[in-house]
Amino acid sequence: MVEGVYRFGSRRINWYVLEADEGLTIVDAGLPDHWPQLVDWLDRTGHELDDIAGVVLTHADVDHVGFARILADRGVPVYCHPDDVPLLRSHPQSPPGWYLRNLWRPRFAAYAIEMLRNGVRSVDPVPDVDPLVPGETLPVPGEPRVIFAPGHTPGSCALFVEDRDTLFCGDVLATRNIFTQREGDPQLLGPADEDHAEAAESLARLGGLGTVTLLPGHGDPWRGEIDTAIALAR
Ligand SMILES: [Zn+2]
Repeated sequence: MVEGVYRFGSRRINWYVLEADEGLTIVDAGLPDHWPQLVDWLDRTGHELDDIAGVVLTHADVDHVGFARILADRGVPVYCHPDDVPLLRSHPQSPPGWYLRNLWRPRFAAYAIEMLRNGVRSVDPVPDVDPLVPGETLPVPGEPRVIFAPGHTPGSCALFVEDRDTLFCGDVLATRNIFTQREGDPQLLGPADEDHAEAAESLARLGGLGTVTLLPGHGDPWRGEIDTAIALAR
């Protein structure tokens, strides 16, 4: 994938560890039951929990907030855009309308069942977060830069790690269709977007990053020109 970047979660849901000399940054926090994956990996690689210097939530959807509370309770700063804090505070909540309307799709139902099995109903909101500020380089290992790209949620952000040509795009773009569960080209999430038109418009904010490895919340990594990714998604 990318040196110093590790992918975790499941086939359907991704979160990442970004490793740098100064320590580790967690990008998104999956579901609560993904926590042992992190503990095991730390053990295997000779790291400690204290090496984790920050958790960055690309947005506050429940399948990205997962185990963040555990780290927050240990004093690790959790970053989230202020416009997603109401969403963050709402967990655990009843599933939204678009979610219920798509449960007839067998592969979406399988995703829903996976979420239930992995603790989606027990996601704890994080009481205090540090704000993601658009354009700011975060003071966490790997120094990701915040690109505000609302639409999927009001506070959705992508994180660009310039020296590794890596873009953690959260659900701004996916490479796996969450309804059909098919892997594919970079794409928008469609009905899962809170404001789909805004999500499409926000893609322009990713322009000009050059060749990147795209690391989405759902789907495999994709490497190529960001402008190609944007064109495919539109
Ligand atoms: Zn998601």
